[in-house]
Amino acid sequence: MHQGIMKAWLDSSHLSGANSTYVEEMYEAYQEDPQSVSDDWRAVFDNLPHANGATADVPEAAHSKVREYFRSLALEGRHKSATRMTDPDVDAKQVKVLQMINAHRFRGHQNANLDPLGLWKREAVSELDPAFHGLTSEDMEREFNTGSFAHGGDTMQLRDLVKALKATYCGSIGAEYMHITDTEEKRWIQQRLEPSLGRANYDKSAKTRILEGLNAAEGMEKYLGAKFPGAKRFSLEGGDALVPMMREIIYRGGEAGTKEIVVGMAHRGRLNLLVNVLGKKPSELFDEFAGKHSDVLNGSGDVKYHQGFSSDFETPGGNVHLALAFNPSHLEIVNPVVMGSVRARLDRRGCDTGLQVMPITIHGDSAIAGQGIVQETFNMSQTRAFKVGGSIRIVVNNQVGFTTNLTEDTRSTEYCTDIAKMVQAPIFHVNADDPEAVAFVAQVAVDYRNAFKRDVVIDLVCYRRHGHNEADEPSATQPLMYAKIKKHPTPRKIYADRLIEESTLGADEVTSMINDYRDALDQGDCVVKEWRPMTLHSVDWTPYINREWDEDYPAAMSLERLENLAQKISYVPENHKLQSRVAKIYKDRVSMANGEKLLDWGFAETLAYASILEDKKRVRITGQDSGRGTFFHRHAVLHNQNDATAYLPLRQVTDDQGPIDISDSVLSEASVLAFEYGYATAEPGGLTIWEAQFGDFANCAQVVIDQFLSSGEQKWGRLCGLTMLLPHGYEGQGPEHSSARLERFLQLCANHNMQVCVPSTPAQVYHMLRRQVVRPMRRPLVVMSPKSLLRHPLAVSSLEELASGTFQNVIAEIDEQDTSKVDRVVFCSGKVYFELLEKRRKENVTNVALVRVEQLYPFPHEDMDKILAQYQHVKDFVWCQEEPQNQGAWYCSQHHFWSAIPAGAQLTYAGREASAAPACGYPGLHAQQQESLINSALKL
Ligand code: AMP
Repeated sequence: MHQGIMKAWLDSSHLSGANSTYVEEMYEAYQEDPQSVSDDWRAVFDNLPHANGATADVPEAAHSKVREYFRSLALEGRHKSATRMTDPDVDAKQVKVLQMINAHRFRGHQNANLDPLGLWKREAVSELDPAFHGLTSEDMEREFNTGSFAHGGDTMQLRDLVKALKATYCGSIGAEYMHITDTEEKRWIQQRLEPSLGRANYDKSAKTRILEGLNAAEGMEKYLGAKFPGAKRFSLEGGDALVPMMREIIYRGGEAGTKEIVVGMAHRGRLNLLVNVLGKKPSELFDEFAGKHSDVLNGSGDVKYHQGFSSDFETPGGNVHLALAFNPSHLEIVNPVVMGSVRARLDRRGCDTGLQVMPITIHGDSAIAGQGIVQETFNMSQTRAFKVGGSIRIVVNNQVGFTTNLTEDTRSTEYCTDIAKMVQAPIFHVNADDPEAVAFVAQVAVDYRNAFKRDVVIDLVCYRRHGHNEADEPSATQPLMYAKIKKHPTPRKIYADRLIEESTLGADEVTSMINDYRDALDQGDCVVKEWRPMTLHSVDWTPYINREWDEDYPAAMSLERLENLAQKISYVPENHKLQSRVAKIYKDRVSMANGEKLLDWGFAETLAYASILEDKKRVRITGQDSGRGTFFHRHAVLHNQNDATAYLPLRQVTDDQGPIDISDSVLSEASVLAFEYGYATAEPGGLTIWEAQFGDFANCAQVVIDQFLSSGEQKWGRLCGLTMLLPHGYEGQGPEHSSARLERFLQLCANHNMQVCVPSTPAQVYHMLRRQVVRPMRRPLVVMSPKSLLRHPLAVSSLEELASGTFQNVIAEIDEQDTSKVDRVVFCSGKVYFELLEKRRKENVTNVALVRVEQLYPFPHEDMDKILAQYQHVKDFVWCQEEPQNQGAWYCSQHHFWSAIPAGAQLTYAGREASAAPACGYPGLHAQQQESLINSALKL
């Protein structure tokens, strides 16, 4: 135990000056009170030798002795085959040498040559100077043990060691990785960086490949600049190395077994990647610049620098499918979308290591530091429901945010990448003017991700040759930077000159490379020689294209099959001890399965899932409390009270059922909804659900709703069958827990882009969920889901209603009424219906009929017409809602109600008065308002 802890400590320790002090301080604290230090440190100190040579409760060793002891242990630990030096002076120097090695591992990046423009003002790090460690020029000639430094032999002349350290840690790569606690990972990185001194030994063909990448990057931008002067293209120039880097990543991934790569990026450099990496035909891009567009998607389209693209790319390890995700201008929000898409592809492939599908997200330097969604995706990266085996995150760090100066105005951290440290991701800063270092880092990043299944960051430190876009004048705000940029040679030129100088290529070869590329652009055909027609993506979307919401679909199911399913999902093994309230719910479910009780909401909803699973389709549900359900109704995940193990009855439907994942999500709406959007846009076969804890929390994901869910099909032709369950209902819980902001969804509805439903019975939720999968249309389903209705005695259904019914878009009056006596028809949705019904029954009102609109959008005109046929004599129609007048469905849907009622009839409103807040905070006031709106609807 003692040895193990010591070894662990030694492995993870770093004996820099600062840390010795830290150890000393800690030791002092430990002497005062052993409990004041962490368990690990206590274990180390407990096992120290003591002044009297014996272990005591609190050791009494003097500080100097403790320090000496640490040093000797360090020496022993790092002692390889070399003979131990005995001279105390040499011993002390040896410790200093080890400290200096560690100082480079920790802080070398702070003095690395990262900025191509040389504008960064960074203070010299004294610990990187041998003199700081007391090492003199005489020592430079002496041999020292190199400890774990993985270059050369066990010993090195100090002069060579210093050179090797500078080359590895202070050259074009600034490796930040010592914040990682896992020793194996740190050692792995050292083994990759140190033996080769931080660079790969590229042969002529590899170097030519790198130059080709730069040549293409620059050639493309120059061509566009000349052909379409002033047109926005968000040029990559300055960050040209992104092209060879991406190609390197794809090659490396392909060799390791990656089958698909999903890329997310904002607009900078996007056109360049589309043409030079993904293989989009330049002629198509030029057409877009010229204002032409293909009408394939039938939608309204999007600007060219938001477009996605898919292709296959040949690598020596096999073809890799590439998908560049479509994205809006809202920076960084595409990242969780990419992760969701990757997870769907991994799930489909049955790959839980992440190896077969790799996400690459490309960030801007200001955005990665500024946008909270980045933190959310890092936080997701290792969680059960959202992990994807790590992602490669690249920052195109052009050192300016539109016009904003980076370090002073856009962040409070040293690097823009500091957020990545929260998940202990290694961060490789690299000078983009050294493309070989860039390619090397790309390979290391892919290998690291595949080895440890964790995120890794490449900070491509570059510059932006033009303004934010090409019509912009950057020197107005960044005068010194742009004076420098004007004189700075392009990355292609720098590298080409280097290859010519070292005789790898002749000047004529370099020139013909430029000409060949320009000729290829003139031809307009694909310029990526590895491009292959798409064969690798595993889903056929054609069955889902051009489908409509009102298509007939097979809704009926035999009663026998349903009864069988009901039995299966209400069974819990005897040794799985349930909490008493949960046990009662499952006891009731058994009665429901046996036909002794009508079905409640939770059971009907679970039956919908079970039937989908039995059809071998996938069900995925995430949300903050989805396993149990915010309101204690679902209990799809049962927690054993004895050992906390989980049991999912829905996993026991049949031997060959579809997979089911019901997971409680990270406490975020934006990233989770975006992730599920990404999942559902890559997986049309099953049912994907995101559930909000309370409906209004979807506010925090408004970008995803506006920019993706409601408009993705129209802009990009990307279908998405995601279901959103948003608890909604006025129950006196105050402004924040009442409304899922129905009005906002209705306001976004057009072109049949999504469905907005308010199911009011268990049978309705069952049919609504099944319909979403069985019917081939794939469009978002927004559900105002219930809270108190989950347990309302009138909100029950029979198994027969499930077996033979279908989703009713409108539900007609259910009480027997003399229709000729009806002089008012009240339309409503959701919980308020039951309040109207109860009051009407109580007050014996016979002249008012209640019609429930269960699907507010697309508005079911035909169904409504059929129901209203019997009320053609009625002149008085009312829309009743619980929400204030400026909210709910009144303003957004009344044109539909007007078009449904007979000519000459009136439509009026019964509901709360307009209000700035969604609901009042006082329960008494709530009850008063509720009573008044019910009375007004019923003419009481
Ligand atoms: P991907 O695997 O994302 O590269 O997609 C491959 C192809 O499948 C695309 O080029 C589209 O034709 C089609 N496709 C992928 N996702 C969708 C979607 N959400 N909606 C419609 N078609 C899609």
